[in-house]
Amino acid sequence: MENPFDNYLKTLDIANEKLKLKAKVLEVLKKPKKVIEINIPVEMDDGSIKVFTGYRVQFNDARGPFKGGIRYHPTVHLDEVKALSAWMALKCAVVNIPMGGGKGGIIVNPKELSKSELQRLSRGYIRAIHESIGPYKDVPAPDVYTTAEIMGWMLDEYESIYGRNPAVITGKPLEVGGSLGRDKATAQGGYYILKEALDLVDLDMNATIAVQGFGNAGATIAKLLFEDGFKVVAVSDSKGGCYDEKGLDIPKVFEHKEEKGTVFGYAKKITNEELLELPVDVIIPAALENVITAKNVEKIKAKIILELANGPTTSEADAVLFKNDVFLIPDILSNAGGVTVSYFEWVQNLQGYYWKLEEVDAKLKEIMVASFHQVYEYRKKFHVDMRTAAYILSIERIAKAIEKRE
Ligand code: NAD
Repeated sequence: MENPFDNYLKTLDIANEKLKLKAKVLEVLKKPKKVIEINIPVEMDDGSIKVFTGYRVQFNDARGPFKGGIRYHPTVHLDEVKALSAWMALKCAVVNIPMGGGKGGIIVNPKELSKSELQRLSRGYIRAIHESIGPYKDVPAPDVYTTAEIMGWMLDEYESIYGRNPAVITGKPLEVGGSLGRDKATAQGGYYILKEALDLVDLDMNATIAVQGFGNAGATIAKLLFEDGFKVVAVSDSKGGCYDEKGLDIPKVFEHKEEKGTVFGYAKKITNEELLELPVDVIIPAALENVITAKNVEKIKAKIILELANGPTTSEADAVLFKNDVFLIPDILSNAGGVTVSYFEWVQNLQGYYWKLEEVDAKLKEIMVASFHQVYEYRKKFHVDMRTAAYILSIERIAKAIEKRE
């Protein structure tokens, strides 16, 4: 299997070909600044003790405090956490927010733990890394299988050591300093970007859209698009998808999912593979990685791909899409709405002054639209695809911040 950190290093090479980074800067960008490995003893409900291994990787903080989620998953691996911490640095830089990149993880299957065991594990994680995090050092957030509730426990543990300090962690429940709009931020940010992209490729409200994945990212963007009058013709989840070329009634799809536990069967049944190959204008992968590959890429008919999921397209497929003139908007740009509103949460916590939802949305829109156009400019300037353009722009920004600190 490919080492995910090697993939990041390849990206760095690609950007360096265009940017000709200073040797010192290039070396700094090849390794995380700090890697923390911890072993957390947790008292289980039956009185036994289990020790869980966890990590916090602090990749680069030249532009601001390290920022990135904490993942709970049985397959968490240090190389993966290192790679994700680097991608976070790029993601924050591409939307130009004053944050660096970090990531955390614990090797655990959270579904096998009771709620109180999960709480003890989460508090134990913070006790183990508290000296390395803080509002101006490193600001964690939720990721795969970590929730607002878990962020609330983590905040409480940190504050039991340092006193009140809500800006140490984002993605918190509203009651303890979370931001309005954080729950829908990823989809909302992607939605603002999609509207810009539609204009660029001369598509309008009649564009047909298929969304793969009906979770936080996918279902929310389907709802936003539907409410705005767009035609979402297909959606899917892990059980399969549904398709109606005239457009789906998304609130009814939600009801179906609520009742039956899936969107499969709401309209004409399709598989997840078929969804990506539909004769639509836009596809939005919002579920898993590696779904657009060398195998299916030639069958893709869409003109735009908006990557809400992380890593849905393989590098072989990327090259074919570029050749076929498919306009792909890469994950580090498309799904950066989440970290952008996390940054807003941090700002609000530091100010002790909380914004209305309209204010959050307006500020998010400004950042997403500007970032989209900056990446598009780099695409033209360097004659590359949007993904490479996003890498060049973000790595250039990080490199400049490193240089200014020399
Ligand atoms: P989620 O768990 O809320 O939803 C995932 C959805 O994908 C579910 O509907 C699930 O049924 C579906 N799914 C699972 N296996 C599938 C399969 N084999 N085929 C098709 N669908 C399948 O997750 P989410 O938060 O919506 O995240 C989805 C993607 O977006 C991930 O790649 C995640 O990293 C990325 N992302 C999410 C956020 C966020 O704020 N939620 C931010 C950035 C990136």
